[in-house]
Amino acid sequence: MKRKRADIASFFNKKNPAEAQENERQDISKSRADQPVQPHPKLFPRTLQGDRRRNFQASWYNVHSWLEYSQIQDSAHCFACRHFGLPNTDSVFTSALGFKNWKKATFRDGGFTKHVKGEAHTHAMVAWKEYEREEKVNASLMSTLTKEHNKQIQESRTSIKSVAEVLLLTATQNISQRGHRETRDADNRGNFLAILDVNANHDTVIKNKLTGPRNEKYTSHQIQNEMLDTLAEIVRSSIINEVKERAVKESFLHFESADRLDAAGLTEKIIQVLERYGLEYKSNLVGQAYDSASVMSGKHSGVQARIKEVAKQAFYVHCNAHSLDLVLVDTVKAVPQAECFFAFLQGLYVWLLCSHEVA
Ligand SMILES: [Zn+2]
Repeated sequence: MKRKRADIASFFNKKNPAEAQENERQDISKSRADQPVQPHPKLFPRTLQGDRRRNFQASWYNVHSWLEYSQIQDSAHCFACRHFGLPNTDSVFTSALGFKNWKKATFRDGGFTKHVKGEAHTHAMVAWKEYEREEKVNASLMSTLTKEHNKQIQESRTSIKSVAEVLLLTATQNISQRGHRETRDADNRGNFLAILDVNANHDTVIKNKLTGPRNEKYTSHQIQNEMLDTLAEIVRSSIINEVKERAVKESFLHFESADRLDAAGLTEKIIQVLERYGLEYKSNLVGQAYDSASVMSGKHSGVQARIKEVAKQAFYVHCNAHSLDLVLVDTVKAVPQAECFFAFLQGLYVWLLCSHEVA
């Protein structure tokens, strides 16, 4: 049994001759993308050749840039011929064993000199140098392209950041963003573009973007809306996280248009929104507040009663803001001049609201 195991192990560990040969040469270059391997060990092994012991010499690298030395095999190889030579050009410098005849290495008619004079080596050297030149051009082209690309990304980020900051400013200050006319010659282009123009006066990147191609400005109404949506989404998810962490705070979450205005339709809509944002209401909803309209506050079938059916702890209280409104209206009614003034304002509002229909 032991023997069998050893056989299996040796079967799987056995290397084919070509692979073994390649592994023996593993300490010299593997591909044309490498550089000639030219090690400088303290001592090169000495072998008896002719009348004395001789060894490879590191100084030969200075004369022959193509020369590679394998420390494993103690042999010399030609980098150019191995990676850039034509197929079927046999030479000892491309063979697996390599060149080892150190005695003849620097002979005038042998060794390195003879190899260098060969047509195959000359072609290989030309091909190698051409490859290096192309690589250099490609590298410099790539570096230029990368630099330009990174610059464009950085500039677009600066510009988008400025656009987002202006949108955030106008939104938090509650001032309108768009102008009635936004062309360059318009008297008032709106707050958004006017503030961006001020920023552009102090930043050439923003200035170039605003005066550049139309699709790079990021100022269109569509982009504004997309950015506002993104900003709103960030704020909304932060509110939802707060709610989930059970922080008690009053926050505005969402506007939703109602298709049906009856109690059932409005209840369904509110529950849909709570579910959409993953807010657990059946056990965590502890309060609801609306105005006193019976569709909302109705004791038996108003929205509050319907929601309380599914969320048992959602107690209804009359909306505080609405109570204050009722108090103010009653107070104002007690002052004839104020009542007259607010009635006029209301009349004006109704007239303005309806005037476009008349026109
Ligand atoms: Zn060669």
